[in-house]
Amino acid sequence: MRGALVGPRVLLRRLREVMSEPANAQARLDRIVVLIANNMVAEVCSVYVARADNTLELYATEGLNREAVHLTTMRLDEGLVGLIAREAQPLALSDAQSHPAFSYKPETGEEIYASFLGVPILRGGNALGVLVVQNRAARVYSEEEIEALQTTAMVVAEMIAGGELEALARPGSGGTVVRRSLALMAQPIAEGVGLGHVVLHEPRVEIKNLVADDPDHELKRLHNALELLRASIDDLMDSGGLSHAGEHRDVLETFRMFAQDRGWIRRLQEAIHTGLTAEAAVERVQSDVRARLLRQTDPYLRERLHDLDDLANRLLHQLTGAAFTLAAENLPENAILVARAMGPAALLEYQRLRLRGLILEEGGATSHVAIVARALGIPTVGKAEGIIGLVEPGDAVIIDGTTGEIQVRPQPDIEAAYAEKARLRARRQEQYRALRDKPAVSKDGQPIDLQMNAGLLVDLPNLDDTGAVGVGLFRTEILFMVAPSLPRAQAQEALYRTIIDIAGKRPVTFRTLDIGGDKVLPYLRKVDEENPALGWRAVRIGLDRPALLRTQFRALLGAAQDRELRIMLPMVATLEEFDMAQAMLARERERLRRLNRSQPRQVQLGVMLEVPSLLFDLDQLFERVDFVSVGTNDLMQFMFAVDRENALVASRFDALHPSFLRPLRRVAEAARRSGKKASICGEMAGKPLEALALLGLGFRSFSMSPSNVGPIKALVRAVDLGAVERFVQERLDSPDRARNLRAELGEFAAAHDLSF
Ligand code: PEP
Ligand code: MG
Repeated sequence: MRGALVGPRVLLRRLREVMSEPANAQARLDRIVVLIANNMVAEVCSVYVARADNTLELYATEGLNREAVHLTTMRLDEGLVGLIAREAQPLALSDAQSHPAFSYKPETGEEIYASFLGVPILRGGNALGVLVVQNRAARVYSEEEIEALQTTAMVVAEMIAGGELEALARPGSGGTVVRRSLALMAQPIAEGVGLGHVVLHEPRVEIKNLVADDPDHELKRLHNALELLRASIDDLMDSGGLSHAGEHRDVLETFRMFAQDRGWIRRLQEAIHTGLTAEAAVERVQSDVRARLLRQTDPYLRERLHDLDDLANRLLHQLTGAAFTLAAENLPENAILVARAMGPAALLEYQRLRLRGLILEEGGATSHVAIVARALGIPTVGKAEGIIGLVEPGDAVIIDGTTGEIQVRPQPDIEAAYAEKARLRARRQEQYRALRDKPAVSKDGQPIDLQMNAGLLVDLPNLDDTGAVGVGLFRTEILFMVAPSLPRAQAQEALYRTIIDIAGKRPVTFRTLDIGGDKVLPYLRKVDEENPALGWRAVRIGLDRPALLRTQFRALLGAAQDRELRIMLPMVATLEEFDMAQAMLARERERLRRLNRSQPRQVQLGVMLEVPSLLFDLDQLFERVDFVSVGTNDLMQFMFAVDRENALVASRFDALHPSFLRPLRRVAEAARRSGKKASICGEMAGKPLEALALLGLGFRSFSMSPSNVGPIKALVRAVDLGAVERFVQERLDSPDRARNLRAELGEFAAAHDLSF
């Protein structure tokens, strides 16, 4: 067996010299393969580069037939080279031709070579190509040689990722794989089409120095960085202020585990011994780990990958001195933010006007940051698997927050199609904006109350933008969810006062805390429940822990001095629950009187009707409350026993089914009998066909997402209420009616020229 002629460090230094020569990319690549072949005493060294059309192309060779360069290609599922790219793992064989995956390419003249060593050219866990050496004699490649070739592959990875080899790609091949266009599907979170360029929320550290001359010095740097990292993690854990996005105890605990993991540290040390700088060693090892874990299907193991990525990233920051800051400052125009996970406060730090979209690798539709993204009207998609490894900062990217599509580095025709979609949407928004100051009065002269839902201060400018006449549902828990700690009474009062002030003459209906279920306050201990949707949540917590609800009542009363205050209780299931909350509110008002403090001019207390049990006590309910607002999101969930967050079943039942519309009609009738108001504040109110049905049932008051106010106002102004009432009631009156009304309502809309 013959060993390497020079040590890997010398090889790396020579590679560095080649990289700095003023030659073109092909010439440099040709020099690199010669260098490696000489160094490894191999007769052959070749570079294969992965291309957009899922093939691998021979880009340079020493030893094989030169004529085959840029001619020989193989599919990803073909040959040993394909196998290495697919598996993203090195492969060393002393008798390559007996391997079942071996495929012979006659034009290369490789039949005379017995042994074969190939390593993937990795970046961020993706195989950008394969680096191969071959020997005529049957030989065993040593661990050191495999390591050295992997390290060399890093240099080639830099060339590919830097776009240097792009010019060498044959026309029609779609370019090298890092530049490939990709279409991905993610979870839709916030509506809208966004076109822009990738900005990584936590930018990766760029490694400028790959090669080091003094490994002892690098080892020392690595150990110092590990020490500092350990100390900083301990500080973070002790302070308890885990405010940084994505930082949670699990990650920190995992770090402790890995920091002690000898295997991990040994691999870092070995990488340094091959001649890499400490930071390049971290990247090398992480790239291998990524490649291995990305092919895991076990969700637990894949989750660990994120933790390890986090750790590697922290270590890189320590080693390079790069500040662990967000990209919030210096945000370019047309930014599409890409984040693994992100806290809601972090998103608010970015300049809204420069953000065209948000892609979350982990966060789903119910994450707190998703709520803020929707409030800010930033097109957003979530659960975009692997996106961080697939994009580079500055890449062109398009997202459609309505369908969940992501187009990375789109071809011009795709980009044009989406740009058209965005323009259409903008034009329609413009038309709705023109309706802003027009009243929501139906064609036959009946006024309809159109309000909007809100949950953050940033929502409130939408009152002016949409022409909504008030906030029909202010979800106060969202204010709590984005706060770093539980807002105390005074802070709450100040917040509520600001909201009331901004709304001015327009009424705001504050819903008391609807926490529990999926709405988690990061600073309160989460209770583990088998069925959180049916668990300890909303008004149930408020009544069991009166301090929370009492504080909120007190803050709301204080904020609304001399004005009208409207409060709404979520998840009320029985009349007694309402009575208890009402008594608590009365005690708070009494307290104000005793203290001689000013009172709101009027206090209205209502309930959300979202638990079906209340449907059986409608007249008694209306007798007690000042108003009712139907939360159709939860009412659907509980009536049909269908988890609203579970994509498998969430769309199984139609809100336009008579079994849902008939009980709603009873609510509208009971409201009319009592002379009190019943409104709808679930998502149903903002959908045109559903709104049409609700108008037909007799509802005259709606609260919806701000983006729906314009379209629903356009609908209201075009509709003859008398006609739609007759149409809907007739169908519900028919006792054997079992089908939903969707198709017929669509026909009604078409026949009456209602376009949406
Ligand atoms: C509802 O349940 O319909 C509702 C409006 O409240 P939330 O979506 O906040 O549960
Ligand atoms: Mg609800």
